[in-house]
Amino acid sequence: MELWYTEKQTEHFGITAKIRETLVTEKTQFQDLAVIDTIEFGRMLVLDGMVMTTVKDEFVYHEMVTHPALFTHPNPKHVLVVGGGDGGAIREVLKHPEVEKAVLVDIDGKVIEYSRKFLPEIAGMLDDPRVEVRVNDGYMHIHEHKNTYDVVMVDSTEPVGPAVQLFERGFYQAIFEALKEDGIFVAQTDNPWFKADLIRKVQKDVKEIFPVTRLYQANIPTYPSGLWTFTMGSKKYDPLQVDETRIPELDTKYYSPSIHKAAFVLPKFVEELTK
Ligand code: SAM
Repeated sequence: MELWYTEKQTEHFGITAKIRETLVTEKTQFQDLAVIDTIEFGRMLVLDGMVMTTVKDEFVYHEMVTHPALFTHPNPKHVLVVGGGDGGAIREVLKHPEVEKAVLVDIDGKVIEYSRKFLPEIAGMLDDPRVEVRVNDGYMHIHEHKNTYDVVMVDSTEPVGPAVQLFERGFYQAIFEALKEDGIFVAQTDNPWFKADLIRKVQKDVKEIFPVTRLYQANIPTYPSGLWTFTMGSKKYDPLQVDETRIPELDTKYYSPSIHKAAFVLPKFVEELTK
């Protein structure tokens, strides 16, 4: 008998993956959590029926939610990841030697626990001495910190359940205040095929708050539509002004100095969402 996991990405469209086994399923305090072992993409973390990360393609997302901002800021010492309980963004942040402290704030400790247990390739750096892991609402954490962070990355689930408030204008204003005077923030902002309105709204909100607002893209095969976007809000530095010839080569598989520039070149139907 074959076993398949299907994610309904919209009411009328989805993806399906043949699976070897289910490693854990649990209804946590915040969401339905599962870790399944798929034949094509290896182990996969699923929250509320949505693919969060897979061993095979996670590097794209985790490199792209971190390195563009960390190479745009000249000296990011104090970094925050909101969400990101799988540990992938933290792993990439730690590749920057100038980072002195990387704080992870995920609302659901079970995501951290099961990522550590079943996804060591992704969560393996959470015990690094530079990392501080907190189980808390990122919305609260941001509101409790002023003028604290050089870079903030919002690596949250889609705007459902506990993540709804992480896509509101008030949260971006609070991030602005939690950042230092030359700080930068990045949020994952979903896909232009099924969530164009969300991208348009976030771009409008962030533009009203940050002097520099950029949208960039990456190809993530297990995410809805495969075309993913990220929104960057910056108080001072523009990622497009970065001299990519001065970006050092890192131990990465997707991000590179040329990708740093190319990611901000958008198809016309996506560029439209930034107007
Ligand atoms: N890369 C994935 C994506 O783009 O959908 C995100 C992966 S990460 C596992 C998403 C995390 O956001 C989850 O662990 C979830 O618990 C966390 N999260 C959701 N709402 C949150 C909140 N209000 N504060 C902190 N973490 C939150």
